[in-house]
Amino acid sequence: MAKLQFASLYQDLFQKSSDLIYFANSDGEIEIANNTLLNKLGYTLPEVVGNPILNFISPSERILYKKIVQDRINDGIDYTLELSLIKKDGSLLLVEGYTGSIILNDDDVYNRGVFRDITVQKKSDKEKEDLITRLNLFLQNAPEAVIIIDENQKIKEWNLKAEAIFGHTKEEVKHRSLNEIMIPHRYRDAHNKGMAYFLKTGDGPVLNKTIEVIAIHKTGYEFSISLSISNVKIEDEWLFIAFISDITEQKAIKEKTEKQENELKQSQLLNEKKNDFLSVASHELKTPLTTIKAFSQLALMVGKNKADPTILSYLEKINTQTSKLTHLVNELLDVSRIQSGKMILSKTLVDFEPYFQETINNIQLTIPTHKIVILESVPLKIEIDSLHLEQVITNLITNAAKYSPGKEIIEVTSTIQNNSLLISVKDYGVGISSKDQGSLFGKFYRVEEIINDFSGHGIGLYISLEIIKQHKGEIWVESEQNTGSTFSFSLPLTK
Ligand code: ADP
Repeated sequence: MAKLQFASLYQDLFQKSSDLIYFANSDGEIEIANNTLLNKLGYTLPEVVGNPILNFISPSERILYKKIVQDRINDGIDYTLELSLIKKDGSLLLVEGYTGSIILNDDDVYNRGVFRDITVQKKSDKEKEDLITRLNLFLQNAPEAVIIIDENQKIKEWNLKAEAIFGHTKEEVKHRSLNEIMIPHRYRDAHNKGMAYFLKTGDGPVLNKTIEVIAIHKTGYEFSISLSISNVKIEDEWLFIAFISDITEQKAIKEKTEKQENELKQSQLLNEKKNDFLSVASHELKTPLTTIKAFSQLALMVGKNKADPTILSYLEKINTQTSKLTHLVNELLDVSRIQSGKMILSKTLVDFEPYFQETINNIQLTIPTHKIVILESVPLKIEIDSLHLEQVITNLITNAAKYSPGKEIIEVTSTIQNNSLLISVKDYGVGISSKDQGSLFGKFYRVEEIINDFSGHGIGLYISLEIIKQHKGEIWVESEQNTGSTFSFSLPLTK
């Protein structure tokens, strides 16, 4: 190849090189710079030639450059270094390369530099570093314990939460085996076998799912953890990443809730059984009671003028007690119906005033000891279940009579208030203390102090409350001990 051809070939290589190349004389002034250098820095050749190379190096690096390159221009060594070059627009270009001296034309010493733009590489290095910092931050502050082990079960990562859960610091577990750190003795064999099996076959039944296992704390106590392990192969070696949470508390709560639910189910079952029994027993009692009552009444009628007066008085007693028992059985049947949601009302439009009057008259016949006085009565038509409402009024008035022995008067009123029909029954009897007033309408509730003085079962007000509720009304009591009580209920009037 001719000499000329070589020269143009070198010239071409010099210009096309992706590196920035320059030659400077022994005073450090640039004599030649390639196109890459000019393009990267944004200068034209005349702007560069004749200028000291130091002018293109960032001020903070000039002293270093001078010491390494210019002051040793004759030592014949190439120095590798990283520099920031100043572009024409003032910004910096990060380059890496080498610079050193070269002797041309036998004794002319030149300094030449060959540098590569490393801005992109630096940026990606920085991004990698940032990513690692972020991952590390995430790892350390993760809400779960994160542990990384290698194929030999040696611990490679152990975050802060792992320290908190297992009690060992990262330093303490470094390069130690997971088996000895957190797996109780009795499970270690199985764990080792599982790991060996995975390494041999690639099959890991516990991988990539969440399982509950027993772990051991630094201080020796065992506790439950939830564990999910993922595996990843990096440069021919398997790494296992375990995410762990301490579920001791969760488990305790779960067990407690399950126990409570079980107890609730048991008590509901028991309640249902009690209710079934109540219902069956009451029904079974009702038929013979009706028969006894019918026959005792018949015997009274037939024997009226003929039978021995003593026998007649016995028959009277049988009749009265049967009535009481029938009343109790009916009340128990009502309780059972309420509890199983089977108390269903059937409402009709009723002319209230005559209905109220007749109900009072009927009750009056059964309580000769007292006089029921209607203080106020309001004429209106209202939708009610007349039989069930009669049951409520009867219960309130018979209670008023029962709990006011020796007081003659019971006052009743029916008025309209706040678009509701308001019925009140007032007695001047024993009254009820305020501590008992809130409980009166509960099932089988009776005021402790008077249990021995008055018979009863604590059912009537419970049934009354249910009947009034089913009328969308309210029932309540105002009372003062030893002064008397007023029981009232309201029924909303439909427009
Ligand atoms: P019972 O009267 O059969 O016990 P109730 O359910 O009708 O059942 O009444 C529940 C309790 O409320 C009674 O046991 C009694 O202690 C109290 N009580 C009800 N009415 C009155 C009243 N008018 N005066 C005083 N106490 C009453």
